[in-house]
Amino acid sequence: MSLLTVSGLGKSFGGVKAVDGIDFRLDAGELLALIGPNGAGKSTTFNMVNGQLRADAGSIRLDGIELVGLKPRQIWRLGVGRTFQIAATFASLTVVENVQMALISADRKVYSLWRPAAAHRRAEALALLDQVGMAAQADRPCSVLAYGDVKRVELAIAMANSPKLLLMDEPTAGMAPAERNDLMALTKKLVVERGIAVLFTEHSMDVVFAYADRMVVLARGRLIAEGRPADIRDHPKVQEVYFGSGKTFEKKATASAENAQ
Ligand code: ADP
Ligand code: MG
Repeated sequence: MSLLTVSGLGKSFGGVKAVDGIDFRLDAGELLALIGPNGAGKSTTFNMVNGQLRADAGSIRLDGIELVGLKPRQIWRLGVGRTFQIAATFASLTVVENVQMALISADRKVYSLWRPAAAHRRAEALALLDQVGMAAQADRPCSVLAYGDVKRVELAIAMANSPKLLLMDEPTAGMAPAERNDLMALTKKLVVERGIAVLFTEHSMDVVFAYADRMVVLARGRLIAEGRPADIRDHPKVQEVYFGSGKTFEKKATASAENAQ
């Protein structure tokens, strides 16, 4: 059984079928990219998985548990974490304090006779920060961090809840190419080390092709292709949707490089 199984998922807004009966699955240890042109239904899909939006057709199962109809907080408790497109740390707190707060919040989801003392949570928080390469900046306020470093802290915060599935909405938006690669390499490392699954939306095709294990391509609410990056790259329907027929991702990349000169 897959970790996440989405079947016949649908959502309409008025007369518009934003998501029109899509099926996909996601296994632990996998990075799945959800791509497609603007208006394809990516955000709507994302928000149905995290519970911000209620599906009006189909099912979303996590480890066999139906998520449709559950509240965002309940879905989070079941192990669906997310990072945000807008940096979501508390600027006035230090890096380690932000992660400690996330650990305390994650604690509350389970009944436990033994609660670690705050000092222990600091050690746990530092261990998480170490995993994202931010231990050395633990006692700096978040407000002074570089953007790429804030994103690393957000990853540590998301990990505090030990998610089974992590949803990342355009994680590299606003980043320079080198920073993008660092963040995705780090995400990939966490996916492998912790055996979690990641569903992410992403505009940069370079990032998608470099880091996704599999891709799901949406257009106008329909799933038009699914597969490994190598298969998707040459998929005629995908190329048609993105560039019109007769062009490829490579040719498009070359064309924009030429335009830049
Ligand atoms: P994407 O994230 O792929 O760009 P969205 O999921 O945001 O696409 O949108 C899919 C379609 O649903 C679009 O036609 C969009 O205009 C419409 N849509 C999304 N959210 C709403 C909403 N809250 N109310 C009305 N229409 C919406
Ligand atoms: Mg969107």
